[in-house]
Amino acid sequence: MSERTYRRLRAELASLENDGLYKRERPITSPQSGQIRVDLNGTNQPFINLCANNYLGLADHPDIIAAAKTAMDAYGYGMASVRFICGTLDLHRQLEQDLADFLGMDDAILYAAAFDANGGVFEPLLAVEDAILSDSLNHASIIDGIRLCKAQRYRYANNNMTDLEAKLDEAAAASPRAIVIATDGVFSMDGTIANIPELRRLADKYDALLLLDDCHATGILGPQGRGTAAHFNSRADIITGTLGKSLGGAAGGFVAAAQPVIDMLRQRSRPYLFSNALPPMLVGGAIKALQLARAGDELRDALRGHARHFRTGLSEAGFRLLDGEHPIIPVMLDEAQLAQDFANRLYELGIFVTGFFYPVVPRDQARIRVQMSAALSTGQLDRAIAAFTQAGRELRVIK
Ligand SMILES: *Cc1c(COP(=O)(O)O)cnc(C)c1O
Repeated sequence: MSERTYRRLRAELASLENDGLYKRERPITSPQSGQIRVDLNGTNQPFINLCANNYLGLADHPDIIAAAKTAMDAYGYGMASVRFICGTLDLHRQLEQDLADFLGMDDAILYAAAFDANGGVFEPLLAVEDAILSDSLNHASIIDGIRLCKAQRYRYANNNMTDLEAKLDEAAAASPRAIVIATDGVFSMDGTIANIPELRRLADKYDALLLLDDCHATGILGPQGRGTAAHFNSRADIITGTLGKSLGGAAGGFVAAAQPVIDMLRQRSRPYLFSNALPPMLVGGAIKALQLARAGDELRDALRGHARHFRTGLSEAGFRLLDGEHPIIPVMLDEAQLAQDFANRLYELGIFVTGFFYPVVPRDQARIRVQMSAALSTGQLDRAIAAFTQAGRELRVIK
């Protein structure tokens, strides 16, 4: 019986491999940064790193490491409990209040990951008599969170406000108790920024709440890195985010919103109630990371400059990019196998990038998603552009 299952799994894995869809992980032996070391057949080779979410370059920042160590010395290694049983530190509340203050919300609540924040935010707030409108390119964790909730679901075409309004009309026709519009602030595979002014206008017109997953925007966009809504001088009603990207890159997630929303999540959100409190070192590190991110206009300027430089370099070399201004730069290759081959060739040339293909992006839209970091230097970017150009010619992606 079990042998039959293992046989089936082996066959499915073999077909992933055949279709060029099999993902391989490469062991890094250094801290996350602009340059990393990778174990290559027992030798430690340096690579230029173009695919971490380490936007502000804080992942190996000495002040964050020191703050994490201080918190570990003061509070120990782990909490061995969930928050409401005996797992809430003064430090947890400080981080929650710092995040709320940063994002201009009443309060915030921590989760083990943004995946959990999105997984746990819908079900406690909404029921069958409510409606959720979700962007078609929303992150997997939003999709899962919505699945766990009994509200009526409507999906609108990516960042398409005409379609959203049509779906809002459809939803409103059923006279729902509440309406939530859920969107990524920045779409992680494309780097496009959600049309917040229009989302806000429609949310107000239909008396809906606007929920923004700002994982790829917190620390990066807007004044002091306050995110996508601040970038447009607008506001969201509920913001979900991560501590695992620009804010130090370790782990942890959060929801920031009005008081009754946060209070209800503390009572009813399952990934919060039934999962361990964040370890003290992560919380201490994140408090410091948030301070550095708020003060980090120089880092944001460097990041923007790098994105412009890299986009210009690759466009001039003849690559097809998705337009945008975000440090996510998708280099389109269309076929999964080509994206894999391209990433492998770049790897041989000392550039660490990953091919993205189905099911992470739609079929026939495989790509290399490059991500800029303030930790990179212009020299490293130019070396990377030269390597892209060489690999692109060899694989006949460019002339
Ligand atoms: C990375 C990401 C998440 C998940 O964040 P974790 O904290 O790593 O779980 C959720 N939503 C979006 C849009 C993301 O990019």
